[in-house]
Amino acid sequence: MRLSLFSRLTLGYLTIFVLVTAVSVYAVSQLSRLDELTGSILTVDNRVLELEKVLSDLLLSQSRYEQRFVITKDEALFEQFLRLKEDFNLQLSQAFALGDAAAQNLLTQIQADYHGYQELISGEAKLLSARKAYSQAQYKQDKDKKLDGMLAALEKLRLGQQQATYGRVRQLADAADQARRVSLFITVACLIAILLLSLLITRSITRPVALLKSKTRDIAEGRFDAGLRISSPPEIAELAAAFNRMCERLGELERMKADFFSSMSHELRTPLTSIKEGTGLLLDGVGGETTDKQRKLLTILAEESNRLIGVVNSLLDLSKLEAGMLNYEFETVNLDPLIRRAVAEIAPLVEAKQITVETAIEGPLPPARLDPERMLQVLRNLLGNAVKFTPKGGQVTVTATLVDGKLQVSVQDSGPGIPAESLTAIFEKFHQGNHKGAHTRPGTGLGLAIAKSIITSHGGEIWAESQFGQGSKFFFVLPCSA
Ligand code: ADP
Repeated sequence: MRLSLFSRLTLGYLTIFVLVTAVSVYAVSQLSRLDELTGSILTVDNRVLELEKVLSDLLLSQSRYEQRFVITKDEALFEQFLRLKEDFNLQLSQAFALGDAAAQNLLTQIQADYHGYQELISGEAKLLSARKAYSQAQYKQDKDKKLDGMLAALEKLRLGQQQATYGRVRQLADAADQARRVSLFITVACLIAILLLSLLITRSITRPVALLKSKTRDIAEGRFDAGLRISSPPEIAELAAAFNRMCERLGELERMKADFFSSMSHELRTPLTSIKEGTGLLLDGVGGETTDKQRKLLTILAEESNRLIGVVNSLLDLSKLEAGMLNYEFETVNLDPLIRRAVAEIAPLVEAKQITVETAIEGPLPPARLDPERMLQVLRNLLGNAVKFTPKGGQVTVTATLVDGKLQVSVQDSGPGIPAESLTAIFEKFHQGNHKGAHTRPGTGLGLAIAKSIITSHGGEIWAESQFGQGSKFFFVLPCSA
């Protein structure tokens, strides 16, 4: 999918919106259906039952008036009877309007019987007012037959209506049950769909971002290979392409820098070595007798060219390190002689500064696989720094011991210490602290970076601990040879 971030999010939210709307529409439609069924039970069924009762009552009332009229021949009673007839017809027409097909059949039968009943009574009333003799018993029998027929039909109507009500209540329960099940199913399905969709969209965004994050970490750690492949979303794909271009450029710059360092170091080392050699020869008197003043100047010249050669060597090491061209010659050797040699080498400087150097080697230490020259380089750097930063009359302690099956070497001094925030940064190239009193031998900020790279290449670790103002302690650990 090559959709943009905006399209992905919009599409995702739209789909969620449509799903939620569909669930809501379904729920509303089911509720309306249930409402319709409830309404029909309340308005139609109950009303038909009411009408049936009213019609039965009216029939019975009419029958009572008619019977009393036949006995008393009181016209007022007959009029009461006629008034109830209108009421009956009105209620009957209402029942017609509400009843279903079965109810309508019964109502038609009731209407016909009622018509017959009315005619019987009108006929009897005429005979009574004309005072003619007639068979009252026969009339009564016919009237009762019609009345019973109508009451039976009304009873049937009531029973039928009750049945219909039960049916509708059952329908209501079934519809509610079905609505509940379908709603539950749709809700769960929508929730799963929403969850999957959110997961998919989030993943499609976080995955390339994670790749970019790891690429950024690579760049921060100095790995500039431009192999980031992200095809979508387009915004992040563009970012990845820009990252690749940046990596290529950085890699190029890094190569140019390494080439520059390398050629510059060579260009500088050769003349410097000539100067050093020449100065040495002059000091040895090869060029003839020298005065004290000349010897002093030649000594300064020799020291400075030595220092410069050291700086150039560091630069050369660094450029080799960064180009991955620093070769190691590993041997299984003991660390103790290397430590003693580095301490011995620094002796002239130690003496000049009246510093006490203590060496504590908890031996015998097991041998380790290491490049002796490179290890000496590390020890020289740590010891050199310790002596450089320790004031006159101070103390430097070198220890070597076995900790957790690994060789641990520490170099402690009584110098100015290192602020906590610089304890990691000092191992980065060109990092130099701002020390008072260290101006006499300014450094390059390369020694610890090179030392770290050498120790790491030996499978070890290097770090510093310090209480600012109370000296520093540098450690490194190396695995022992199996
Ligand atoms: P350089 O000493 O040539 O500047 P390094 O890489 O050896 O370069 O050291 C980097 C920085 O670490 C130094 O400039 C100094 O600020 C700090 N540092 C190193 N060793 C010590 C020490 N023993 N005491 C105090 N600061 C130190």
